[in-house]
Amino acid sequence: MFIVFVGPPGAGKGTQARRIGRWLDVPHLSTGDMLREARHEKTDLGARATQYIDAGRLVPDELILDMVKDRIEQEDCQSGCLLDGFPRNVQQAQKLDQMLADRATPLNVVVEIQVEDDELRTRILKRAEIEGRADDTPDTVSRRLDVYRSQTEPVLAHYRKVDKVEPVDGQGTPDEIFERIASAIKKRS
Ligand code: AMP
Repeated sequence: MFIVFVGPPGAGKGTQARRIGRWLDVPHLSTGDMLREARHEKTDLGARATQYIDAGRLVPDELILDMVKDRIEQEDCQSGCLLDGFPRNVQQAQKLDQMLADRATPLNVVVEIQVEDDELRTRILKRAEIEGRADDTPDTVSRRLDVYRSQTEPVLAHYRKVDKVEPVDGQGTPDEIFERIASAIKKRS
């Protein structure tokens, strides 16, 4: 199964995506995690991505697209994967559609995790205390929310046109949210 997770920063997307990946036994690909890892390992990609991540902006598509393409071409992704944090804009969505069309593997579903803005800010500031992420400061969070509204929400519109989107209420306990996502995915599998 090919599944895309979309949701604003702080929606709990990463936590749920990891859990769904284990449940379905498919690789969980988080572009945010891949970039943070590249940065930690001081690769060229990591160095080039850092300024964008810290500013709460999107890393340029040319850096992201090669990274994703290389990863989904690997053996363990042949029968599916769960994409978390990608595609982040319409251009990336079009490239993903092309990559999947080239290998004749359709996208099953785009899970949209919905959480209200006030709740997002509270959750991110709490996460900042625990994980110490450099891009979890109040200013950066506002920028990331703006980027989500202006660049990532159009990705949802793109996939709504082809009836791929399953909206899920992202408020409640982690178990409740997991159950909602699992039943949304079952409907599409
Ligand atoms: P995330 O962990 O998904 O919240 O991503 C953290 C940061 O990594 C984002 O604010 C962006 O700067 C960058 N990033 C992650 N995924 C992408 C992507 N698909 N396209 C561009 N930038 C990305």
